[in-house]
Amino acid sequence: MTRRLPDPRPQVEIVAGRAHVVGQQCAACGLRTTLVVSACPGCRGELAPVRFGPDGTVWGSTVIRVPVAGRTPPYCLAYVDLDGGPRVLVHVKASTEPVAVGTRVRLRGDSGGDLVVELVR
Ligand SMILES: [Zn+2]
Repeated sequence: MTRRLPDPRPQVEIVAGRAHVVGQQCAACGLRTTLVVSACPGCRGELAPVRFGPDGTVWGSTVIRVPVAGRTPPYCLAYVDLDGGPRVLVHVKASTEPVAVGTRVRLRGDSGGDLVVELVR
């Protein structure tokens, strides 16, 4: 029998038309996480539900040129520091080139379970 584990990718919630990442914040140490855990991974403190985003800043990016199932290369992946939240891996919508560090982006939802952002203009 194969045991199916929960999808570890961050979950998106749409509130008033804006996409947010679902997460938790530790009341004791302030750690912010998108992990679905029952206690703080840092100090074992109590966690409270929070939403992160929708805006953030690109920490780094790269372009994928290798085909994988469901994705047509080239496409851009970036690590984004969500405002008030953790760093998450995202797809950059309609981008086939790396995005400069410091670029502002906005979460737009997900695609096949992967977070998707677009550039803020
Ligand atoms: Zn903590």
